[in-house]
Amino acid sequence: MPAARRGGIWRAGLRRGETMFVVRYPSQPNVCSRARLVLTRITGRSGAEAMADRYPYIIVGGRVAGAAAVDGIRELDAEGPILLLRREKHLPYDPPPLSKALWLGKKTVEQIYRHDQSYYDQQHVALRLGRQAVGLDPESKTVTDDEGVSYQYDKLLLATGGSPKRLSLPGADLPDLCYYRSLDDYLRVRASVGEGTSALVVGGGFIGSEMAAALHANGVSVTMLFLSPYLVSHVFPEELGQALQADYERRGITVQANDAPVAFEARDGKIATTTRRGNEIVSDLVLIGVGIAPETALAEAAGLETEDGIVVDEYLQTSHPDIYAAGDNAFFAYPGVARRMRLEHWDNAVGQGRQVGRNMAGADEPFTYMPYFFSDLFDFGYEAVGEVSSQLSVFADWAEPHQTGVLYYLDESKVRGVMMCNVWDKVEAARNLIREGGPVLPEDLRGAIR
Ligand SMILES: Cc1cc2nc3c(=O)[nH]c(=O)nc-3n(C[C@H](O)[C@H](O)[C@H](O)COP(=O)(O)OP(=O)(O)OC[C@H]3O[C@@H](n4cnc5c(N)ncnc54)[C@H](O)[C@@H]3O)c2cc1C
Repeated sequence: MPAARRGGIWRAGLRRGETMFVVRYPSQPNVCSRARLVLTRITGRSGAEAMADRYPYIIVGGRVAGAAAVDGIRELDAEGPILLLRREKHLPYDPPPLSKALWLGKKTVEQIYRHDQSYYDQQHVALRLGRQAVGLDPESKTVTDDEGVSYQYDKLLLATGGSPKRLSLPGADLPDLCYYRSLDDYLRVRASVGEGTSALVVGGGFIGSEMAAALHANGVSVTMLFLSPYLVSHVFPEELGQALQADYERRGITVQANDAPVAFEARDGKIATTTRRGNEIVSDLVLIGVGIAPETALAEAAGLETEDGIVVDEYLQTSHPDIYAAGDNAFFAYPGVARRMRLEHWDNAVGQGRQVGRNMAGADEPFTYMPYFFSDLFDFGYEAVGEVSSQLSVFADWAEPHQTGVLYYLDESKVRGVMMCNVWDKVEAARNLIREGGPVLPEDLRGAIR
């Protein structure tokens, strides 16, 4: 029934045992809502209750992983209608430029969208933007959004990513504070930044360090405040973190390490932040980047297995066979490092998204890809693969100290992760080193990747 596949089929429950099918043609987009009205009159139930739109594929969330899943589905199923339900009102976009390229004039907002509207139209993807999924019933295979509309799926993807961790402190919910994560956050901060604006950046991890550099490059007077002893301390060995921190300070960024906010207060159009050490920092803006928590609420409420994320097997299938998860929210067995974990990296979200899309369309292939990640802090850029944790022992092979070289992260003499600092296009070589998995002496790694 090609016309129906192009347009979508809806099944409506009338009385027990009776079913009405409504076919929506692209040229008649209102058929569905008219049918809902008719059903409300016949059944006495609300249109949404009486009739759930039905799709072979529903994707909830969908910024990076969800958009990639559309591509994956379409590799195997050219026509099956897809519903993409997104809390954000924007088309799916890539977040990395929000803390880098958009601030440095290297990209425009239009260039960060993964696809334009015409792509979704051509791919028969129904977009519900600005809608949050608030209910999931695996028995009836139904998702319900925050306007009370229900949708039925054959296969469902939860690509809900993560949400910024919020501080639990006096004033931490002031509307002027920005827990930086989305395009709306970028647009809001961008609109309030000018030469001489002052900003406090809370958090010294990826987002905090990148945003401090981005704001500084735009003439903002930046102070950083974070509890750890040095920048990006969960990844960088201390020597490197301290060297980068010194570089930040040389450029004019004030860094307050080993300290943290205890309260925020709105004062004369600015924000006053009090710190544990008793300092007060008054600034026009406060940006907070202290990590994310995976969005697992829907999965938990539906009885799916969760740990630090939604538990998935190697096919990215949750504990329910018709429900999948991918991207920042997926707790999976990472073959590269032989343990279960979540990754909060763009390339992982793209890779898992594409794979999960293929599997939803019937591929049945395990996810074996080893993703890489990247960051830029002023002129220190890097790509990394595997487990790069400062808890592991690190062998540093520098061509130029703290600028150009390769860091090898070792656990029991095995290479678990590799970070290539201002060394490019060597990700595959790093993957091979990790895959080899044999015991190595750190000194033997010197020159392994150049
Ligand atoms: C500012 C910034 C910079 C970054 N820079 C880098 C980088 O340099 N390198 C790198 O490797 N990674 C980077 N990342 C991380 C990378 O962007 C993430 O790993 C990636 O976005 C994860 O994609 P995702 O689709 O799994 O989740 P997300 O991007 O979190 O998308 C999830 C989407 O689901 C929506 N959603 C959640 N719950 C619901 C619901 N119930 N109903 C409907 N919609 C819902 C959310 O609003 C969101 O749009 C950066 C992230 C940010 C925020």
